Amino acid sequence: MTAAPDQAPAGGRDPTAAVDVDAAIVGGGIAGLWLANLLHARGYRTVVLEADGIGGSQTLASQGMIHGGLKYALSGNLTGASEAIAGMPERWRRCLAGGGDVDLGGLEPLSDRYYMFATSTALGRLTSFFASRTLRGRIRRLEPPEYPAAFADPAFRGVVYELNDFVLDTPDLLAALLRPVADRVYRHRLLPGEVTPADGGCELRLPGARLRARRLILTAGAGTGALLDHLGIASPRMQLRPLHQVLVRHDYPHPLYAHCLTGIRRPEPRMTITSHRDGDGWLWYLGGQIAGDGVAMSDAELADHARRELAACLPWISWERAGISTLRVDRAEPEQTGGRRPDEAFAAAVGPTVVAWPTKLSLVPDLGDKVLALLDPPRPGPAPRLELPRAGLGRVPWSRP
Ligand SMILES: Cc1cc2nc3c(=O)[nH]c(=O)nc-3n(C[C@H](O)[C@H](O)[C@H](O)COP(=O)(O)OP(=O)(O)OC[C@H]3O[C@@H](n4cnc5c(N)ncnc54)[C@H](O)[C@@H]3O)c2cc1C
Repeated sequence: MTAAPDQAPAGGRDPTAAVDVDAAIVGGGIAGLWLANLLHARGYRTVVLEADGIGGSQTLASQGMIHGGLKYALSGNLTGASEAIAGMPERWRRCLAGGGDVDLGGLEPLSDRYYMFATSTALGRLTSFFASRTLRGRIRRLEPPEYPAAFADPAFRGVVYELNDFVLDTPDLLAALLRPVADRVYRHRLLPGEVTPADGGCELRLPGARLRARRLILTAGAGTGALLDHLGIASPRMQLRPLHQVLVRHDYPHPLYAHCLTGIRRPEPRMTITSHRDGDGWLWYLGGQIAGDGVAMSDAELADHARRELAACLPWISWERAGISTLRVDRAEPEQTGGRRPDEAFAAAVGPTVVAWPTKLSLVPDLGDKVLALLDPPRPGPAPRLELPRAGLGRVPWSRP
C-alpha cells in the first residue's frame, strides 16, 4: 500500500514507532466529522476513530432539522434556548451554498422549509407573538395557495406558518462531510485502556500503531460517558435524555415537514413531523411531545397513541392502515441541573482532552467555534496512515435490510 502524498506511513509496520497528530477525534457522528473537516481545512493533522458505522446512534436517528429554535419559544417568549440557536439556519445555508465553515456545496436539503400548523386558527397569544416584530423574518403565516401539499385538502381549515428552518437527509450530509476526510476516518472502538498521558498530550495504543495526539477530542456521543469515567475526568459529566420516536409507513403520497400545534397545552409541539425516503414513498418520522410522552409507554402503547394523535392532528388523512413502529434513542449531552435541555453546544478542555457534545445537529457550527477556540495552532506535517480499516457510513434506523 502506498501512502497518499499528504499522508505519512504510520507505525503500522513498526508498532514501536509513534506517529504524531494534532488531534485524535473519537466518534464519527456529525460532531466528529464536522470537526474533522474544520481541522483538516486549517492544516491540523487529524484522525477520526469510529466504533461502528459513521453517523452512529444519534445523528442517523435524528430528524435532520436545522432549526432556529422557535419551537422552544411556544410559551410566547423568546428564551435562552431559542436565541442561542437562532442564527444556525443561516450559518448552515452558507455552507450549503459552498461558503461558510464547511463546504457542503451541492448538498440538497430534503425540504428547504419547515412549517408549523394547527387545525384551528385559535392559537391564543401565539397568534400575536408569531406576528410580532421580534420574530420578523423568522416566521411567516402562509396563504392557502402557498400551503405544502399535505394541507391542500379542502377539509383543512387551520393555519400554516413557514419557518426559516430546513431539513437535511442525514446520510447525504454525512457522505458530504466524509468525502474530504475519508482517508483519515478509521473504524476502531477506542478502549479506555488504550489511552495514556504522554508529553502534555495523549498516546493511543491502537492495533498496529502508537499514535501521539496533542489533543484527544471526545465526540463519542453516548460513548463519551464511559471514556470520561475511565480517563478519570470527573467534570464535565454526561446526561442522557431518552426519546421514544415513532415511524409511520403509509401510502399517503406527500411528504410533510411540520410541527403540529393543534390543542397544545405545553410549550412544545404536539408532534414534530419529518419525512424520509422509503422505497417509492415516504416514511413519516414523529418526534416532539409524542416522543417525550412515549418514553413511559411500551412500544404497542405508543403505536396506539400515535395513531390517535395522527388522527387528531391530520384528520383528513386515513391512518387506519398505516404501519407504525417505534424507536428508543437517547440524546447524549453535558449534565445540566435537573437534567434540563442544554441551550448551546458544549466543548471543554480537561488537560489534553476536549469533551464535545453538539447537543443538537443544528448547533454543530457553534460546536466548531468552541472547539477551535480551545486548540493551539497546527504543527505542519503529513497526516498519518494507520493500518486500520476505514469506517463506512452507518444506516438510518428505518432502512430496510
Ligand atoms: C431522535 C433524535 C432526533 C433528533 N433530531 C434532531 C433534529 O432534527 N435537529 C437537531 O438539531 N438535532 C436533533 N437531534 C440531536 C442530534 O441528533 C444530536 O445532537 C447529534 O446527532 C449528536 O451527534 P454526535 O456526533 O455528538 O453523536 P452521535 O451521532 O451519537 O455519534 C457518536 C459516535 O461515536 C461513536 N463512538 C462511541 N463510542 C466510541 C468509542 N469508544 N470509540 C470510537 N467511536 C465511538 C458512535 O459509534 C457514534 O458513531 C436529535 C436527536 C435524537 C436522538
